[in-house]
Amino acid sequence: MLTVGVLALQGDVREHVRALEAAGVDAVTVRRPAELEHLDGLVLPGGESTTIVKLARIFDLLEPLRARVAGGLPVYGSCAGMILLADRVDTGAAAAGGDGIDTTFGGLDITVRRNAFGRQVDSFEQDIAIEGVPGEPVRAVFIRAPWVQQVGPAATAIGSTADGHVVAVRQGPLLATSFHPEMTGDLRVHALFAQMVADSRG
Ligand code: GLN
Repeated sequence: MLTVGVLALQGDVREHVRALEAAGVDAVTVRRPAELEHLDGLVLPGGESTTIVKLARIFDLLEPLRARVAGGLPVYGSCAGMILLADRVDTGAAAAGGDGIDTTFGGLDITVRRNAFGRQVDSFEQDIAIEGVPGEPVRAVFIRAPWVQQVGPAATAIGSTADGHVVAVRQGPLLATSFHPEMTGDLRVHALFAQMVADSRG
């Protein structure tokens, strides 16, 4: 059975553990560098990206995480997790209203804009077709979500909002969504990631 970690420093860890297990992989929480070693894949949950980076530093996970992503580990980042996977963070006007983020784990050739859709009260849902997810569009839940401001040549946009903001991207074994599929009971995004993990194992 494939083992997929969920970075458990902060955020909606339990929801991802449940969704991964329902999608047929063994899900384990990760808080220590040694726990990164035997993973086939990793999920970076939603939460507060600035807090997760701070805790990753304190727990000595920042460099080991970067090394695993750079080494080709399949990683899925949801919301704050998308920010953590981005190579670049736009610190423009729309990103204001919180602390800045001084670094990420990187890996995805994208620029993200934090809190791009507005404040907490502006959280919303929308049906979004995602390339690689068969069937009906996914009911996407956005909570103080980022959007992808720019998609670099190495990454591919696989889903956008009705008004054209990119909210799902893929790059080799890396997947990121601005929204939270772990909150809707629809397992298809986790199933797509589980398939990516299986494919990378060959
Ligand atoms: N606004 C959060 C951040 O910038 C992300 C919110 C979420 O993960 N739901 O990290």
